[in-house]
Amino acid sequence: MTSDEERFLRRAIELAAEAREGGDPPFGSLLVGPDGAVLVEERNTTVTGGDITAHPELKLARWAARELSPDAAAATSMYTSCQPCGMCAGAIERSFLGRVVFALSGEQLAGLKPPATAAGPLLEGPALYAEARVPVEGYYV
Ligand SMILES: [Zn+2]
Repeated sequence: MTSDEERFLRRAIELAAEAREGGDPPFGSLLVGPDGAVLVEERNTTVTGGDITAHPELKLARWAARELSPDAAAATSMYTSCQPCGMCAGAIERSFLGRVVFALSGEQLAGLKPPATAAGPLLEGPALYAEARVPVEGYYV
């Protein structure tokens, strides 16, 4: 890892500390263009914003998808204080961002907090294939 990359990761960690100081979970992220310029920064605002999806990585993925061409997004790196969760990883993939550099891994984060107690939802399906395929068929050609 280069000294510039470490500097960007340290900034993400600072943003995480700022989120915590402001009453939100401690996570922060930034996007850096191919020339090394910081494009945008975000903090977690799930508590103060009343939005369970307000993770910084998701906000940045949405920004990249809205503001950057796919080629520019592919040349852009996300630096984030923690490995993106499943929700954010999906959004990052859809945004075409080219690279994610994280400080804490998901496993390291799990070791710093109590075990999760909520079970996931029951997923039931597939069902009604003949009807459900109608609005989809032909869309992706
Ligand atoms: Zn997330």
